[in-house]
Amino acid sequence: MTKDKAFWRTTALEDMSDSQWESLCDGCAKCCLSKLIDDETEELYYTNLACDLLDTKKCRCTDYEHRFARVTDCVKVSLKHRESFGWLPPTCAYRRLSEGKDLPQWHPLLTGSKAAMHKAGQSVRGKVIHESLGGDPEDHIVIWPLADCSD
Ligand code: SF4
Ligand code: SF4
Repeated sequence: MTKDKAFWRTTALEDMSDSQWESLCDGCAKCCLSKLIDDETEELYYTNLACDLLDTKKCRCTDYEHRFARVTDCVKVSLKHRESFGWLPPTCAYRRLSEGKDLPQWHPLLTGSKAAMHKAGQSVRGKVIHESLGGDPEDHIVIWPLADCSD
């Protein structure tokens, strides 16, 4: 990786092209997990229940083009919703860059593929089931999506 290719270190999020913005997504699919918010404390909890449209092995939406029409609470990650980046996992590139951090060492932009991310256990692969099969979300609360990475 040459320095000039590391555009995320020299280009502000608001100045990125659409393709640069899209390439920041590591494809971890943690944002496709059901989340709960405590009514009293407003604390966010992740579950191991994935959106039914998610291919849980490939960690990829099976109908990306029509995702907003098919899943009402599917949220587009954009700067318009920057104030809600806090609900994204700490490893998420959009959250990290908005907090002044760099990408994690396993990020596909640095390694050239998703293999290192999967190997580091940073995607949902092998850890989730579809929400329609899961029953009560409160029985599926997990902490691993909220773990930060060490780099
Ligand atoms: S959590 Fe962030 S990096 Fe991971 S899939 Fe969602 S938007 Fe992409
Ligand atoms: S519709 Fe697709 S992108 Fe949206 S939450 Fe479901 S799997 Fe993820």
